[in-house]
Amino acid sequence: MASYLDNNASTALDARVLEAMQPYLGAIAGNASSLHRFGRLQRDAIETARAQVAELVNAQPGQVIFTSGGTESNNLALQGVMAATGGRALAIGATEHMSVLQPAEALQKSGARLSILPVDAEGRLLKAALADNIKDCALASVMLANNETGVIQDLTPLVEAAAKAGVWIHTDATQAAGKIELDFAATGAHTMTLSSHKIYGPMGAGALIVDKRLPIDAMLHGGSQENGLRAGTENVAAIVGFGKAAELAQQELKQRAQHTRQLRDALQQQLQQMERVEVFAVDAPRLPNTLQFGVRGFDGETLLMQLDRKGFAVSSGSACTSGKTEASHVLKAMQVEQELALSAIRVSFGQNNTMRDVDAFVSALTSITEMTTTAVMHAAQV
Ligand code: PMP
Repeated sequence: MASYLDNNASTALDARVLEAMQPYLGAIAGNASSLHRFGRLQRDAIETARAQVAELVNAQPGQVIFTSGGTESNNLALQGVMAATGGRALAIGATEHMSVLQPAEALQKSGARLSILPVDAEGRLLKAALADNIKDCALASVMLANNETGVIQDLTPLVEAAAKAGVWIHTDATQAAGKIELDFAATGAHTMTLSSHKIYGPMGAGALIVDKRLPIDAMLHGGSQENGLRAGTENVAAIVGFGKAAELAQQELKQRAQHTRQLRDALQQQLQQMERVEVFAVDAPRLPNTLQFGVRGFDGETLLMQLDRKGFAVSSGSACTSGKTEASHVLKAMQVEQELALSAIRVSFGQNNTMRDVDAFVSALTSITEMTTTAVMHAAQV
């Protein structure tokens, strides 16, 4: 039996979400922009989903712009705000997802100044350097929760420094949504990214929540869909699924968090008893479902493949760029030593996991590490 322990990468579609999507998967014709009854049916479905997504983050439905996912929302926020403000500088957190880091670097290539906001050893923004780093910036982008470590960011110091300096704030809440309570206005951010497939909804749907005061330009030009901010005929079935997933996430948030926290804490307790294991960001506030750790003397990608062979799906912290394995930029920013960072494994629990997954995972990891250690010792003896 395979154990899927990679829910921060993507979650399984909830059966209730699929059921809600079914009527929009072809049986009903119509374009949401058409004025006739068929079009209106599609439009109504989108508006219901908009209210459901708004509710998840306590925003107004009018603030929800549907996109194709987290990546597009982050690109829209960064490029759209920089374009509309004519900004010449921006700042991003050191542990941001690639879908923030890459558009920021693209803006840098076209002439913008990019500052990287440093974090401490637990992945939290360093307050002391904030004001200097965001000075003259049009936009600062800091994620609410990190996809690797699960670290939850307190945006308050950034919001305060940004208010003084007149800087707009974007936050990527892709991993936070559905796992911790979210209130768009209370975060102090002016845009917020959400993604459907991280909350048991379909892939290919997401949203950017936008404060109406924010100057922002569209990236995709064409029709007037999504308040002119995202042209293109809407993917109604995916949006409907996203809406339903958001509704369920809100209703079940507490029990989901409690369930995954139990599993995560049990795993953490067992891992901390293993000699070579170190859990990252263990003292920072973290998402209830996420745990990232290193195993001294091991390579993360090799461990991942060995675990996969035993039926466990996890993620490694490292990325392979041009044939060379690099430690994750998140762990680098936290000043985790290179060797330990290269051994990183992320486990992210979901609703479908049970305590049996935890116990089976620990025995699989134990047998892999013990077997390899014994083999190395034998090799050293001959
Ligand atoms: N931001 C974060 C923090 C993520 O974890 C992800 C997905 N890995 C994204 C953005 C991108 O979302 P999507 O897959 O919907 O493009």
